Amino acid sequence: MTRRPGQHAGWLERMAESLGLIETLAPGDEPLPALAPGGELLRFPPREQWDDWVEYDAQTWPHRDSRHRMLVPTTCFNCEAACGLLAYVDKETLAVQRFEGNPLHPASRGRTCAKGPATINQVQDPDRILYPLRRKGPRGGGEWERVEWDEVLSALGGRIGRAFREGRGGEVVYHVGRPGHEGYMDRVLRAWGIDGHNSHTNVCSGAARMGYALWQKYDRPSPDYAHAKFILLISAHLESGHYFNPHAQRIMEGLQAGAGLAVLDPRLSNTASMATHWLPTRPGSEAAVLLAMARVILAEGLFDRGFVESWVNWREYLAFRGRPGGSFDDFVQALAAEYAEFTPGFAAAEAGVPPEHIVDVARRIGAAGSRFAAHTWRAAGSGNLGGWCVARALHLLSVLVGAVGTRGGTLPAGWNKFVPTFFDNPPPQKAWNELHYPPEWPLCHYEMSFVLPHLLREGRGRIDTYFTRVFNPVWTYPDGFSWIEMLMDESRIGCHVALTPTWNETAFFADWVLPMGHGPERHDLNSYETHDAVWIAFRQPVRREALRRLGRPVRFTWEANPGAVWEEDEFWIQLSWTLDADGSLGIRRHFESPVRAGEAVSVEEYYAALFEQVPGLPQAARAEGLDALEYMRRVGAFEVRGECLGQHLDPLPDAALQGARTEPDGRVFGADGSLRGVHVDGAARRGFPTPSGRLELYSATMVEWGWPEHAVPGYVKSHVHPDRIDSARGEFVLLPTFRLPNLIHSRSSNSKWLTEISHRNPVWLHTSDAARLGLRTDDLVRVETEIGHFVDKVWVTEAVRPGVVCCSHHIGRWRRASDPQGNRWAVNTVRLSRDGRRWRMSTVAGPQPADTADPDTRRLWWRDGGVHQNITHAVHPDPVSGMHCWHQKVRLVPAGPDDRYGDIVVDMDRSQAVFRDWLALTRGQRAPAGLRRPLWFNRPLRPADEAYRR
Ligand code: SF4
Repeated sequence: MTRRPGQHAGWLERMAESLGLIETLAPGDEPLPALAPGGELLRFPPREQWDDWVEYDAQTWPHRDSRHRMLVPTTCFNCEAACGLLAYVDKETLAVQRFEGNPLHPASRGRTCAKGPATINQVQDPDRILYPLRRKGPRGGGEWERVEWDEVLSALGGRIGRAFREGRGGEVVYHVGRPGHEGYMDRVLRAWGIDGHNSHTNVCSGAARMGYALWQKYDRPSPDYAHAKFILLISAHLESGHYFNPHAQRIMEGLQAGAGLAVLDPRLSNTASMATHWLPTRPGSEAAVLLAMARVILAEGLFDRGFVESWVNWREYLAFRGRPGGSFDDFVQALAAEYAEFTPGFAAAEAGVPPEHIVDVARRIGAAGSRFAAHTWRAAGSGNLGGWCVARALHLLSVLVGAVGTRGGTLPAGWNKFVPTFFDNPPPQKAWNELHYPPEWPLCHYEMSFVLPHLLREGRGRIDTYFTRVFNPVWTYPDGFSWIEMLMDESRIGCHVALTPTWNETAFFADWVLPMGHGPERHDLNSYETHDAVWIAFRQPVRREALRRLGRPVRFTWEANPGAVWEEDEFWIQLSWTLDADGSLGIRRHFESPVRAGEAVSVEEYYAALFEQVPGLPQAARAEGLDALEYMRRVGAFEVRGECLGQHLDPLPDAALQGARTEPDGRVFGADGSLRGVHVDGAARRGFPTPSGRLELYSATMVEWGWPEHAVPGYVKSHVHPDRIDSARGEFVLLPTFRLPNLIHSRSSNSKWLTEISHRNPVWLHTSDAARLGLRTDDLVRVETEIGHFVDKVWVTEAVRPGVVCCSHHIGRWRRASDPQGNRWAVNTVRLSRDGRRWRMSTVAGPQPADTADPDTRRLWWRDGGVHQNITHAVHPDPVSGMHCWHQKVRLVPAGPDDRYGDIVVDMDRSQAVFRDWLALTRGQRAPAGLRRPLWFNRPLRPADEAYRR
């Protein structure tokens, strides 16, 4: 039997043929026509074919149907790294067919993590929000009506314009979750003249940022992993760290070249499993371990004497310790004494790891010298009281071995980050918003956003219009019921506008839900310190770009996106234009086109002006016969600069030295009194942007602002230190901070591929603890926090140290039956109830199959959507950094007969009491008179210096 011409084999036949179980039924099938001339196998379609890439359609196999695609670059929006994506846009239907990596992106180099290609699920999500919505009925009631964008602009423009005219600009707030937009929103808010920026940073990286900033003002590390000899990571960077995919590539390159890798993590992460040294330290002990390593490096003479002598403010330190004018040897002696208590034995006892492992890692760091690369971000810093000490202690190691700004070392992030120039620059605002920067935390590194409900409850202010941008505090933040209470209270928040691509627990309590595009549906500029280079990438709406190339341009992005999904760039321009219709507020002029007088700037004009100012980009574009914007539209990314090492050594230019004076300590001040640099090794050099011009081992700022015990890097016992945990009572440290590599906070639930892999978050429990408590995998356990409890299943494992339990923070999404059906792959349907000051959540049903436009929703096979743990956490604002200290002291109790999986109970009186307890730890009252914050400390949306003064 053979097949007739045109008759195609079914899959069973083809499999049987390929296994040789049956004869090939169609020996006469026509040979496959080549789509391209023969040549070498390529990893990516050649760029010259991106406008018309021809490939077979896998969906119609065995028919050999060729399809014409246009490959349009954009960037991924599923984490901060902004890896390059290529959208495969079908030229006939204009549907985006899939996403792959953009090989021309300097950081990601064509590779992505699982979340990059899964963007297609989010674009095709059958439950996505397609049109602007306005609530009907009471806020939180779950009823919505579709509106047009004109109505949105007119209503919000009128409201905000009124607030500005009435002098209530301080009541308008923009709260960002997923960041991006290099400088875009700062420009908008400055044009509005308000101190209205709020961010999620203090539930994320505020502590790490503060630790780094105290040393060098630059608040992020930029490790050169690929050239390192030894790498030290605090937490799971290879599998899920910040700049996950770009960093992981380069860590692997370092390892392949022979580098060692040490990981401090109480959990056996995939990263720890790849390490040459895994130190499963007790949560909160990390700074003690790092200081013990510093002690070994000092004691064994492994430090870089020349670097430390030249670039550390050791003379100030000696003066502080009562030895002004002492020699460098005096300093070395004093520093050894400073850290004498941090013996390997002491650190080992704190951390619960062998002392010889600490010594071994310290010696390897010393041997690596200037090629020692290190990184910490959330992890320990975000978990513990005093977590900011971890980054400070880690950077001490880099400083001691001279690995700052070196090849294979760790660079200040600012050296690897591009700062754009805009077509118009409004002046900094003169206001200071104490709802974001309350006086109790003058040193907090970012806004105190997670205590906002408590501040409002205390009557410290009111918000007229509150924008949340790709931000879900009800679910992501601790103490989510406080957020629900705040959002439900119209006397505290007059109007809540949720700008979001997807439904989320915070959007349920909005007045307006405005659909903003996913990564391939919006414009944005990206630049991140992923490695030793400076690069930019262009996030662009790919269907809009495809239409343009086909000669069918649109005016606004929502005309090209699915439904009427818009993007923020154009939304803010149009809103600003509307709210100052007659120009009397002085806002409109900042949004006027630079080339079309009297008209609003277009997004093309905005980026064209910006890209023309990028060093080297116009030249690279012209070499291809393009302008800078066209180059970015077609390539998607540009490397602005390669190696950026050693910038502190740069000699000061002659212009900076005109009229300058040099102090005895080497600091060079310009004629205007500003610090220009520092005289080191026979030349006036750029140095570091700190008050001393050097790396600040000793921080006069900490002393002057009420924390003299933190004059130098130190160790603070965590709020979950073993002294405070009674294991005999069933108490544990709960680690809620770790990431899963394929999920992303509250957004990945819109991806069926990602959610199918991970959709439950059991409590990780060590085998020995499980035996002690008589618990087995899948047993129900009640996890009691300070303010309530949640009921979860147990996963018994060896992959966590005893005494510590872990629970992933990505899972446990919910909706009430009255809420829209967003994120159906991961969402539990729950019942919320309140009894006085007690909230209760119970799960009615897990994810369920359903008939939608996507047949996979019918195939949804899992019913377990996990448990929302964060809502049972109290706020823990660190008194210095302001960071929320995520780790929880919890008690594990086998579930009782009335406990059901997913049950949650929270007592709001306890929530308030815990906030007050932590507030009492602050020392804002000791700040120098007349100042809100050290002038040299940066801030997002930095106001004019005069606003720093009371
Ligand atoms: S690391 Fe993954 S999620 Fe993050 S930008 Fe890259 S591809 Fe997207």
